[in-house]
Amino acid sequence: MAIPRTPRGRARVVNERLGKTFPGTASELCALRHDNPFQLLVATILSAQCTDERVNIVMPEMIRRFPTPALLADAPLREVEQVIHSTGFYHAKAEHLLGMATALQERFAGEVPESLADLVTLPGVGRKTGNVIRSVAFGAPGLPVDTHVGRLSRRLGLTQEEDPVKVEAALCALLPRTQWGGFSLRLILHGRTVCLSRTPHCERCELADLCPSAPRAARPTQRRAVGSQSGLEGSTGVA
Ligand code: SF4
Repeated sequence: MAIPRTPRGRARVVNERLGKTFPGTASELCALRHDNPFQLLVATILSAQCTDERVNIVMPEMIRRFPTPALLADAPLREVEQVIHSTGFYHAKAEHLLGMATALQERFAGEVPESLADLVTLPGVGRKTGNVIRSVAFGAPGLPVDTHVGRLSRRLGLTQEEDPVKVEAALCALLPRTQWGGFSLRLILHGRTVCLSRTPHCERCELADLCPSAPRAARPTQRRAVGSQSGLEGSTGVA
């Protein structure tokens, strides 16, 4: 197969290859367990600076005590803090959760809205969380950009933007809307397992032949051609 020479071509092949390792839709790939958009919203707020595994441990008790926005909105702050304590930053998260639930009650009839414009008006919800809710809970177009997505996008020469909003816009322009959520989650999973922040494992990466940041020693002739077109001058490593 020809090595793609453009960011759009690389994005398509990256999505195809990672799709073999991490197949499925955004809903199927999301590790945060949930049964409805409200539960996913709570879990995503809790996932900030916390592992998905820890959130999945805490969520059953959250759901048992506060199964609806109405019950969470009326919950004592201290009780919520107690339940979510192990996820870290529990005071700020508890305030966000109560504020989010109150906003759902007051402005959205107790329902999680689907539009990003509405989602980002909720306390504790930015574009990243809003796009998670859209793509995972509603199956709608949404491309969450976290540190993994930003880092891998730059290493793979898909964009050189640093600002997450600009990264999101750049990636969205490279892929069909139906692929946005799944692509983001595949990059996240690849970033957690292979393309680690400090020590990327290029030697066992299925993207090494098209990645401009793969070490030069590991690149075949074709790969050098990709690097020369990527705008990543002198890219002999990924650090
Ligand atoms: S080749 Fe290396 S830098 Fe490129 S995506 Fe794979 S692990 Fe990351």
